[in-house]
Amino acid sequence: MIDTIYVENAVACHERTKSMTRRFPDAACVTCDRYQEVFNPKAQNFRLQKKKPALILAKKFGATVLPAPEGYGIGGEHNYYFSHMLNCIYDCRYCFLQGMYRSAHYVVFVNYERFFDGMAAKLEYHRGEDVWFFSGYDCDSLALEPVTGFVRELLDWLRQHPRAQVELRTKSTQVRSLFETVPLPNVVIAYSLTPDQTAATLEHKAPSVQKRLAALAELAERGWNVGLRFDPVLYESRYQSLYQRLFEDVFDRVPQNSIHSVTLGPFRMPKPYFRNVTRLYPDEALFAGPFESRDKMISYSMDCEQQMMSFCYDQLLRYTAADKIYTCSPSSRDLVTNGLDRDKSVGIQNG
Ligand code: SF4
Repeated sequence: MIDTIYVENAVACHERTKSMTRRFPDAACVTCDRYQEVFNPKAQNFRLQKKKPALILAKKFGATVLPAPEGYGIGGEHNYYFSHMLNCIYDCRYCFLQGMYRSAHYVVFVNYERFFDGMAAKLEYHRGEDVWFFSGYDCDSLALEPVTGFVRELLDWLRQHPRAQVELRTKSTQVRSLFETVPLPNVVIAYSLTPDQTAATLEHKAPSVQKRLAALAELAERGWNVGLRFDPVLYESRYQSLYQRLFEDVFDRVPQNSIHSVTLGPFRMPKPYFRNVTRLYPDEALFAGPFESRDKMISYSMDCEQQMMSFCYDQLLRYTAADKIYTCSPSSRDLVTNGLDRDKSVGIQNG
């Protein structure tokens, strides 16, 4: 899976570097001073690199825990995100990472303690209050877990810090580290879900929706809080029947009392990223629209977006309580919060 591993000199002797490189005994190891030397150069092709990405082991400097975009959240007041990894082993055609980064290589920051310290500082800042931390913004939270072991260490840390609420967003079925521990009430395992056919066409290399549902159901059965993320909701002419069937399937398999939250979001991507992605995949049917440019974002036309969000929201209400459903994008928020008495919104998120 990995032919080349770049290792920053600063972490060459780190225990986690040694353990990760041991997993790929045939990979060529190349040292470098800073990961940006490999990751940032302009003359790289994300699409080509995605066929054979390298692993880059690096040390994180600077801020690790950043404020979530405005309106981002699932009910908490203080919201932050962090990324112990950049890029993803899956290849979803709607993913903004492919438009944001020049390189498809996987960067793993091995000094995990810096992330935990960053979260501890936010807890200290919001003394006495719960603080939400979102993982899975620049990567999939669990997909590379067998290699990194990050979540295993994070869970240990969270056990000691009950005010820290964490969402692990994923499409992965790499849930062994979760099965091996007692469920933590301050963790939500949030699965991104799309209709089967959409996933098969657009979510390359990701586990099938049925496999994700099996993992979700087992996590719920073992006592974990789970989240359902229908984000992005993607347009196609049959979207109503596709999403109806998806919701039916999901709520048939996941017990209500395990569901922490449900989020619903339309496709949206910052304009420069969209431009990059369409250059990478000029023939991709997904990018044929119907899109329009709004608020520095490319989104479906307002009509189309409102119809889809309204339809999905009404369908979700057949299965779950309104106070568990969170929506994003101003237009959909106006639409679906009609009659609701509080603002419930989430910002940009990868699937
Ligand atoms: S959308 Fe999520 S799962 Fe898909 S490639 Fe991007 S980060 Fe990975």
